[in-house]
Amino acid sequence: MAKYVFITGGVVSSLGKGISGASVGKLLQLHGFKVNMIKFDPYINVDPGTMNPYQHGEVFVTVDGTESDLDLGTYERFLDVYTSKANTNTAGDIYQTVINRERMGVYDGATVQVIPHITDEIKRRFIALKNDCDISIIEIGGTVGDIEGLPFMESVRQFQLENNKEDILSIHVTLVPYITAARELKTKPTQHSVNKLREIGISPDMIICRTEYQLDDSLKKKISLFCNVKEDCVIEALDASSIYYIPEALYKQNVDSLVMEKLKIKPKRKFDKTWFKKIKSMSKFDKTVKIAIVGKYADLKDAYKSIDESLNIAAAELKTKAEVHYLGSEDKDLIGKLKHYNAILVPGGFGHRGINGKIKAVTYARENKIPFLGICLGMQCSVIEASRNLANLEGANSTEFDKNTKYPVIKILDEQKNIKYRGGTMRLGNYKAEIKKSTLAHNLYKIEEVDERHRHRYEMNPEFIEILEKTGFFVSAYHKGILPEIVEIKNHPFFIGVQFHPEFDSRPMKAHPLFKGLINAALKII
Ligand code: GLN
Repeated sequence: MAKYVFITGGVVSSLGKGISGASVGKLLQLHGFKVNMIKFDPYINVDPGTMNPYQHGEVFVTVDGTESDLDLGTYERFLDVYTSKANTNTAGDIYQTVINRERMGVYDGATVQVIPHITDEIKRRFIALKNDCDISIIEIGGTVGDIEGLPFMESVRQFQLENNKEDILSIHVTLVPYITAARELKTKPTQHSVNKLREIGISPDMIICRTEYQLDDSLKKKISLFCNVKEDCVIEALDASSIYYIPEALYKQNVDSLVMEKLKIKPKRKFDKTWFKKIKSMSKFDKTVKIAIVGKYADLKDAYKSIDESLNIAAAELKTKAEVHYLGSEDKDLIGKLKHYNAILVPGGFGHRGINGKIKAVTYARENKIPFLGICLGMQCSVIEASRNLANLEGANSTEFDKNTKYPVIKILDEQKNIKYRGGTMRLGNYKAEIKKSTLAHNLYKIEEVDERHRHRYEMNPEFIEILEKTGFFVSAYHKGILPEIVEIKNHPFFIGVQFHPEFDSRPMKAHPLFKGLINAALKII
C-alpha cells in the first residue's frame, strides 16, 4: 500500500503546514499506519546548511548527516521517526541532479526542460519512501502563486493524473483572517488561494483553515461552496497553546476518518487515544525553572527551535515549566541578567561574533555553580574558558576565531581535514561516543556508548587534554578513543559540554537525558 497526502499552503507563509501535515500523520499513525513525511522547498539553495538562521530558523541535522530545514525536526518529534536525505528536497538540489545528469549525457541530446525533466525528478522523489511507509505526507514549501513553487505544484498535478485517485489526498492550509474593524472573519483570501490552486489543476480534498476565532457553519458552507470542498472537509485550526494539541483538535473534526475514507483505507488497529492524554499531562506543572540561552540569535526563537523543544519536553517530564529566555551574547549587561536564571545553556554556532559573551557566561556558570550545558560551540567555549582561566593558557582560543593563537585548544584536526564526504570538512550526522564510568555523563545516560548527531568542523585539540585535566576540567567521553565528545568539571553540581547536538533527539515523552539532567539540576537551586 502506498498512499500520498499532499500539503500545500495559501494566502501567507508560516501557517504551520508542517505541523498540520504532521498532525494528520500522527492521527494516521495512531490508527496503526506507518507514516513518514517529505519536505519540498522551492528555494535554490542546495540545502539549508548555509542559510542564515535569522531568516530560516535552525538547521536540523538528520542521523545520516543531512542538513535540513527545521520542519524535519517537527516531523521527527511528532511522528517519533528518524528522517534522512530522502525526507528533504530543495529546488536547488533537484536542478543540480538534473543538470549533472545532462552533463553526463544521460538525456541523449534532448532539450532539458522544467517539464518533463524537472517534474520527473520531483515525482521520483515523491515516491522515495514508498517502501518504508504506508502513507507519505508530502509538504510543498512556500505559498501557492509563488513563481518558484510552480514546478512542484505542476508535479503534484501530474502525479494525480498518473496515479489512482484513491491513493492521493490533497490538503490546502490557508488563513481565514479576522478583520477587527468589520468584526468579521474573511473567507476571500481562501477562495482566491484555492482558485489559484485549481488553475494549476489541483483541487483540494480538504482545507485546513488557520484562524484566531471559531468558524461558524455559515462560514464553513461558504468556503465549501466557493472552494468546491465538502463541508465536513473544511477544517478549523484554531491557534493552540501547544502544537501537540493540534492532532486532537483535528481528530475532533473527524479528519482521520475523512482522510481514510478518501484513501480507501481501514484502521490497522484500535485508535490509540493515550497519546492525547500523555500530551495533556505534559502541561501540568507544579514548579518553574528559568533557563538562559546565551546565543547570537537572541531575537529569533526558531534559530534554536530544537533546543527550545528539548527543554520544554524535558521539563514537562519533571512536571516543571521551563521559562526559556534568550540572551544576546553581545549584551553589555549579560552577567547582570544571568543572575536571574537557574541554568545556563550556550548553544552551537559559527563565527566569532558574540564569542566573548559566551565565554563570560561559561565563567559565570562555572564560578557560581550554576547548572551549565554547552552544545557544540558552547562546549568549545567551555574548553577555551577553562584553558584561559583554569590552566592559565593566556590567549587560548579556537583557530576558528584566532588562526595564530599560541594555544589552539580547539582546531581542525588532520583526521577532520580528510572528511571530504557529506558537507566538505564538516563532521555531520551520527558518531558514537564511549562514556567513562563515574562521570556526570554516565550518570545521566546510564550507558557506556551513545550515538549522537554532529555538525561541526572544529574539535577539542587532544594535545591540551593533559594540562586541562590537571585543573579539574576533564573529558568524559571520546569518539574512537581520540576525539573528545563530552567535557565536564569536577566539584560542580552540573557542568557539561558536548561536541554533538543532543537537541535533535528529543521527542515528547522521550526527553533527552542531558536536558532532563539540566532541568533537574536547575530545580535543585531554585
Ligand atoms: N563553529 C564550530 C565548529 O565548526 C561549532 C559548530 C556548531 O556549534 N554547530 O566546530
